[in-house]
Amino acid sequence: MNPEKLVRPEILALNAYQVAEADGMVKLDAMENPYPLPQALRRELAEVLSRVELNRYPEPSGRKLRELIARKMDVPPGMELLLGNGSDDLLQMVSLALARPGAVAMYPSPTFVMYSLNAIFTGMRGVGVPLRQDFSFDACGFIERMKAEKPALVFLAYPNNPTGVLYPEQQIVEVIKACPGLVVVDEAYHVFARRTFMPRLSEFPNLVVVRTVSKLGLAGIRLGYLAGRPEWIREFNKVRQAYNVNVLTQAAALFMLERLEVLEEQAARIRADRAALGQAIAAMPGTKVVPSEANFFLVRVPDAERTYEALKRQGVLVRNLHPGLENCLRINVGTPDENRILLTALREALS
Ligand code: PMP
Repeated sequence: MNPEKLVRPEILALNAYQVAEADGMVKLDAMENPYPLPQALRRELAEVLSRVELNRYPEPSGRKLRELIARKMDVPPGMELLLGNGSDDLLQMVSLALARPGAVAMYPSPTFVMYSLNAIFTGMRGVGVPLRQDFSFDACGFIERMKAEKPALVFLAYPNNPTGVLYPEQQIVEVIKACPGLVVVDEAYHVFARRTFMPRLSEFPNLVVVRTVSKLGLAGIRLGYLAGRPEWIREFNKVRQAYNVNVLTQAAALFMLERLEVLEEQAARIRADRAALGQAIAAMPGTKVVPSEANFFLVRVPDAERTYEALKRQGVLVRNLHPGLENCLRINVGTPDENRILLTALREALS
């Protein structure tokens, strides 16, 4: 049987999410924390995980983990949490719940691809509103467009991926106030920007905050959390797959979040190294670096394909955003050693 006769045309038109082969490479393509856990902690964690009952289903809503996150992440009183298999899972739940026939999901563009992909998956109409040339946010233009489109859902990445730009807080507030639908402020890079809407949740009935532990150093366990009013959580819970956060993830997260300072210290090192890396890249001929509040830089180069391949030949993996974003690479901040290797390789690649 030919799947093309049965699969929805909008799915046939897509390509599956591409992840480049990274074996043995200096991996600067996926916004991961480059630092491993200290040895002693790894052994302790292994001990904890060895006691997990793999024969049992997980506690369905991750109650203990939710309580710990609420405490560690300063979730305001009265707000509740929903856990996801990565924040990807949560973004999809929100879209699923709000996808009434004809409903619109809106976001500045370019931004995290899952916002538009989830619109496609769930049958919403995705509307991307272009950022300015310098990737700053045209809040007035966005609000004007909201008047026309009346979105049920708005996604704002704070700071944005793939640009690293943190929009001014006041602009986000204006969008939330003017939005007829729900605004998801996606704080995936919050540890690097250290700005958050978490304490302001109670001010806005149409706001939820989504976060992930991925960029903090736990990308492998797949855990995200959504904070918002109980009324929203109650509805999103209905589209959540039962047991979406597995027992190993729950146990590892409980262990690590009790030792959050280890991960926060690693994030602080990345923040401390960020400016020097950005300046060093910007000093190279032909490059243009977008100022970033995240753990990566968007870098415009004369020929992205050529530079990407030349870096790869030298064992450095970055993300090529071309042709979607013309001649743009997205490059992570790595360890000091990785950053040195990158800079040497990039100098060579651009010559
Ligand atoms: N939001 C943003 C803005 C992202 O850049 C990413 C990861 N690239 C995610 C959400 C998803 O992260 P995860 O599923 O690992 O939690």
